[in-house]
Amino acid sequence: MPAHGMADELHDVVEHRLRRIDQRYTAGRRAIIDLLVSAEHPVSIADIAERLPSLPRSSAYRHLVDLQAAGVVRRITANDEFTRFELDENLTGHHHHLLCVNCGKVTDITLPAGFEQDVDKAISQLADAESFEPLSHRLDVLGVCAGCQ
Ligand SMILES: [Zn+2]
Ligand SMILES: [Zn+2]
Repeated sequence: MPAHGMADELHDVVEHRLRRIDQRYTAGRRAIIDLLVSAEHPVSIADIAERLPSLPRSSAYRHLVDLQAAGVVRRITANDEFTRFELDENLTGHHHHLLCVNCGKVTDITLPAGFEQDVDKAISQLADAESFEPLSHRLDVLGVCAGCQ
């Protein structure tokens, strides 16, 4: 969890990015960001409803859509049944996920730096051939978690 000062800085970034798309950083949105910071792992709508009982599910969902549009929240899905949300990696750092196709559990994983360099190199070669400018990549591993095996 970031130190208090870092959390303040994060809130400033979120407020600024929302303002760029003409949205205000309301108390409900702030509560969701605080939850995502403290959860330390991707959360579901059900997790949010449990942790923020006073925030209606429909509002939580709309806030998440706006926070995604502002580029501060990222949606992770194993399939249509399971959706999780986390802070965008431009705020937290580049990483990947293990997704359980049975229960929807999501685990953050960081791959070895050498692997990331090899992936970036291979991607830039493929992208060059298409005159495509790569910005980032995603790699989510689908499987069955320890609890579901
Ligand atoms: Zn599972
Ligand atoms: Zn990567």
